[in-house]
Amino acid sequence: MTSTTCFCIVKVAEDRGSGLAGAHMWERVLAVGAHPDDIEFGCGGALLRHAAAGASVTLLVMSDGARGGDPVVRAGEQARVGQLLGAKVVLLGLPDTHLGQPHELISLIETEISASAPDLVYTHLPEDMHQDHVQTHQAVRVAARNVANVLLFESPHSPMLNTGIGVNISSVIQQKTELLAAHASQVSERRVLTARSVRSRADRHGTALGCDYAEMFYPLRFTLAFERVE
Ligand SMILES: [Zn+2]
Repeated sequence: MTSTTCFCIVKVAEDRGSGLAGAHMWERVLAVGAHPDDIEFGCGGALLRHAAAGASVTLLVMSDGARGGDPVVRAGEQARVGQLLGAKVVLLGLPDTHLGQPHELISLIETEISASAPDLVYTHLPEDMHQDHVQTHQAVRVAARNVANVLLFESPHSPMLNTGIGVNISSVIQQKTELLAAHASQVSERRVLTARSVRSRADRHGTALGCDYAEMFYPLRFTLAFERVE
């Protein structure tokens, strides 16, 4: 993992003094996760800020999460997150730990990218140790080849990023814990998803970035949108 410049995207936007708080830095955001709860864990805070700033947010979940619980329950939990975020949720319902052939996954993601036309995509890191997360990363990497901005997020099975692109989520940390809490069937089994653990991770990133709570991302591609300054 190479080192990159550390700063807060949202703070940069606010500091432009437009009063819009960076409302139009990104208008359409797509997050792709392998299982229900991956997206919220990795970029739930950033998505809350995107939604609050007026962006349309789409959550694309590859598998049904059946290895971690009843897929019907998990789909309901993911739908609840969509309501909390005001986001569109797309559940592909692929078999947990057997997502499918790469070309099939790429095609499914390309279809959603065509539909939502994102200017920013979030997905898993390639260094993740869960096979579904790695497969999802690899498929998104190809499917999103024409998207200008792609940021990679942590999971409980990935390394914790020491540097990268940071987003100040201090204003939405409570809401982020509520997104994870919506995955009640998982939080009861996995300590890493509890409010205490989520806050602890965000606190550590915040310390590195100079704010209370933050999320950190590795940029596969990232462009500063200077041309949108008014
Ligand atoms: Zn996962």
